Amino acid sequence: MPHDLVCRKCGKSTPYDGVAGGAPCQHCGYKIPHIYVLFGMLPFLLYFGTLLAIEIIFRPPIPDELKILGGMAGLVLLWYIYARWSQRGT
Ligand SMILES: [Zn+2]
Repeated sequence: MPHDLVCRKCGKSTPYDGVAGGAPCQHCGYKIPHIYVLFGMLPFLLYFGTLLAIEIIFRPPIPDELKILGGMAGLVLLWYIYARWSQRGT
């Protein structure tokens, strides 16, 4: 599923084939124009780590259904914010 993403160096749109880091940039030849795709995993790991820590440490007295729902809502929000951030300046 080829998809265009913004190059990290020159800011122009270049194809991203889904491989980590992607192919070199078409415009400036930068080798890893989409390195933030890798860094993009970090907030999600942190997010789940935080949820797990809260669950273990505080044991909030709310139903599991609400926890799952709240977790998913937070994840979608985080995803949206990240998508906006990663495509900024276009
Ligand atoms: Zn470039």
